[in-house]
Amino acid sequence: MRGNFASTRLSASAPLDSPFEVDQYSPVVKHHGTRTALSFELIPPRNSTDSAKLDELIQGLAAYHPDYVSVTSSMRSDWLAGTTALIERIASTTDLRPIAHLACTAGPKVELEGWIRQLIDVGVRGFLALRGDLQPGQTSLPEGYLPYATDLLNLINKVQEEEAFRLAAGKLALSVACYPSGHAESKHFDHDLDVLLAKQRLGADFAITQLFFDASDYLEFVEVARLAGVRIPLIPGIMPITSLARAKRMGELSGLQVPETVEKRLASATSPEEEYELGMELSAELTRTILDAGTGGLHVYTHNNLAVTRDLLGRVGIQQP
Ligand code: FAD
Repeated sequence: MRGNFASTRLSASAPLDSPFEVDQYSPVVKHHGTRTALSFELIPPRNSTDSAKLDELIQGLAAYHPDYVSVTSSMRSDWLAGTTALIERIASTTDLRPIAHLACTAGPKVELEGWIRQLIDVGVRGFLALRGDLQPGQTSLPEGYLPYATDLLNLINKVQEEEAFRLAAGKLALSVACYPSGHAESKHFDHDLDVLLAKQRLGADFAITQLFFDASDYLEFVEVARLAGVRIPLIPGIMPITSLARAKRMGELSGLQVPETVEKRLASATSPEEEYELGMELSAELTRTILDAGTGGLHVYTHNNLAVTRDLLGRVGIQQP
């Protein structure tokens, strides 16, 4: 929930010369009555058992012909070495378009620059530029590291210019994170909006949201962002809820509390199967509300679970073609 954040404000930095009427670029990606834009988040394998299951997952997701897949980057999966290896595997075995998550926390600026070039080498044509999470007690990143996602956008833009030969067929897709329920460190919702506007000015093509538990958090966020001058698509990141414990864990990692209504509904289950069913129905309800409001795209946090991803998509009427 967005808590005490103000929800109506025209940002001082909103562009004044937009050729569009506000309602022409609201809401999000327009649903043109064709198909729902679809993308999936994948996590690089953390061990050989995970790795053995990957081909089935990749092929299963590819059957939906997603617009792109994004590959996370974290310490647990060997930072960008893990991201690069999975992207290489995707690029060499499928025609999926992979986007690499790139976090400032993954290494000093000079190392990140090398990784960007290496990722372009293995076939990446897009990045999700992130700051990454600080460690408990940490207030900023060490010297030599880029402090914010906006600095990373600048670095990617610089490399993109220098690599124009290899990108002759087009530009890198630049995406960023955004937060319908506010970023955990943010003092005020307006600040989040200003950061998102700065990302847009630096060339972000679209933003993917953090998970959220209430459809209205997303829809109100989009409305306020549009009023503030954000024109890029704000693609809802959907997390399938498979249990209360998992929802709490994911909420914790994102600095969010599971709302009482969700907690009560899941806690009423008398078996793990019933809990799964209630959670998935909540996730489907949230997704249907968002799609019914005219949102044209979904980004599913798959957690590398093909069965759960298929189940969610089936519940909202998205079948494999
Ligand atoms: P920023 O946009 O840099 O913002 C970080 C904080 O600093 C915010 O509070 C912001 O308001 C503030 N801020 C930003 N710019 C400035 C400025 N110039 N001056 C002052 N304050 C500023 N993390 C990973 O480690 N690996 C992943 O693969 C990963 N994938 C993600 C995918 C999605 C879709 C999302 C939503 C998040 C993901 N994250 C991932 C988590 C993300 O790294 C964290 O949420 C992180 O805390 C913030 O990242 P950011 O890119 O939004 O940071």
